[in-house]
Amino acid sequence: PLVVVAIVGRPNVGKSTLFNRLVGKRLALVDDQPGVTRDRREGDGRLGDLDFRIVDTAGLEHAADGSLQARMRAGTEAAIAEADVVLFMTDARAGLTADDERFADLVRRSHKPVILLANKAEGRGGATAAYEAYSLGLGDPIPVSSEHGEGLGDLYDALQPHF
Ligand code: GDP
Ligand code: MG
Repeated sequence: PLVVVAIVGRPNVGKSTLFNRLVGKRLALVDDQPGVTRDRREGDGRLGDLDFRIVDTAGLEHAADGSLQARMRAGTEAAIAEADVVLFMTDARAGLTADDERFADLVRRSHKPVILLANKAEGRGGATAAYEAYSLGLGDPIPVSSEHGEGLGDLYDALQPHF
């Protein structure tokens, strides 16, 4: 069976940008069923010689409607539960927020292997800004740029032991 990799984090950190980059043209399924799966997309991901199933989550937590919020949180929790490895993403430019802490708690409590990605780390100061994410307690952040395709070699090195 394929290794299942879930991308988790608060909205707007760049999860879907990384998902699109890893699936390329191999997007197998866009799942817009109602309920806990509504915020989830799955595809066949590839990085170097690694082939895996990749799950993108919407990561919504702060909807005004409490029940929607609960469903989205459940969607993230379900994706984490099914994953062999979780890619937890932050935004190195925006800095950490309370939502980052909340999503990090979900991942921590799952006891799943996690790779911490500090996205939007391209350009001057990117790697330095990425380091803030260390305080989430999920290990050393890997600076990446989903948009520019930077840091993917380091992501490969972190993923490879799970195959
Ligand atoms: P999601 O809500 O976590 O899925 O985030 P998206 O993938 O939809 O991206 C949110 C915004 O961040 C979009 O405007 C992206 O173009 C932008 N973005 C994503 N990755 C990067 C990156 O590596 N660098 C920069 N500067 N912007 C990025
Ligand atoms: Mg998204």
